[in-house]
Amino acid sequence: MPVSVHDEAGIKALLSGFGEKPFRYAQIAQAVYKDLVPDIDSITTISKELREKLSSEIVFSTLSLRSEETSDNGQTTKFLFETHDGKLIEAVIMRHLSGRNTLCVSCQAGCPMGCSFCATGKLGLFRNLTAWEILEQFDFVQKRLVSEDRKIRNVVFMGMGEPFLNYKNLKMAISVLCDQKKYDVSNRRITVSTCGIVPGIEKFAEDFPQVSLAVSLHAPNDETRKSIMPVENTYPLADLMASLDRYVEKTNKRVFYEYIMISGVTDHPRFATELAELLRGRLAHVNFIPYNPGEGIMGNGMLPTSKLLIKKFQDTLEKAGIPSTVRHTMGDDIDAACGQLAMKERGESLATETGKSISKAFRKGE
Ligand code: SF4
Repeated sequence: MPVSVHDEAGIKALLSGFGEKPFRYAQIAQAVYKDLVPDIDSITTISKELREKLSSEIVFSTLSLRSEETSDNGQTTKFLFETHDGKLIEAVIMRHLSGRNTLCVSCQAGCPMGCSFCATGKLGLFRNLTAWEILEQFDFVQKRLVSEDRKIRNVVFMGMGEPFLNYKNLKMAISVLCDQKKYDVSNRRITVSTCGIVPGIEKFAEDFPQVSLAVSLHAPNDETRKSIMPVENTYPLADLMASLDRYVEKTNKRVFYEYIMISGVTDHPRFATELAELLRGRLAHVNFIPYNPGEGIMGNGMLPTSKLLIKKFQDTLEKAGIPSTVRHTMGDDIDAACGQLAMKERGESLATETGKSISKAFRKGE
């Protein structure tokens, strides 16, 4: 099996096996991460002989682009990749009018969490992505943006999958993204989004106190949360909030609460007050997300909340001193909500045995 171009230890072992000095790795890293070369043959700072030896040993990408769609306004492009073993994963680039570009990456093929409003949740989990597969999504889009004279500035782990159920690979991927000699993305410009895996939040506070944390809250009470997010059965709201309080105490960072607005489900008028009470006095920012019905893929009749009602929620929060924003729904015309393209391709859940066993372990709290 060839070594990934992102596997520093693997490449160093190869170089050492070829009797090369350790500084050769720095030359390769410069070419890969700063010059964005497409292959080993393009690294002209190392000898032709070494290039020939390495070219069959190192692989730049194991992902192949299956399809891509750009929204009518040109701001959002969604890429559907196929992994070496035939799994479909998605990444989305959002070109904001301010000039910054945000990449949303996937960390699992599918997802075991089963949130009822999410197309990825309908797929089930196929497997965890490797750190290299996460980085390959970034690398592909970064290279694509060069032709537009743009660069990725922000990275959000909000694509397919629950990042804290693939913690080891998440950690490795963030380390490479933030390495100044590699992609050099500021850790403050990376956001990891969890549906509320408490042990993951604890580890994350220890390992990445500078990286931003977003939490999919989506309801202000146990009952409603349980009806749309099975994670609530394992980590109830009280445990989640206690863990987030410890996170804030440790990092002094504001937590971003994602709140999906689904008509008749999460937008009951009294929920605005409950949400304000839940977050009062906490270092919080709420991001309201109008539900994306996904062109009927969900098939369950869920509809987005009206703008007027979302504004009422915002007003209630404002009175309690809690800032909020409404996510600009970029790319509705291309199924930009996570999982929708893969769902379209597959048409049904094909969760693997590995995926099912990870889901089972999660339910048991492992
Ligand atoms: S919302 Fe996130 S955690 Fe929930 S099923 Fe979808 S991808 Fe998984």
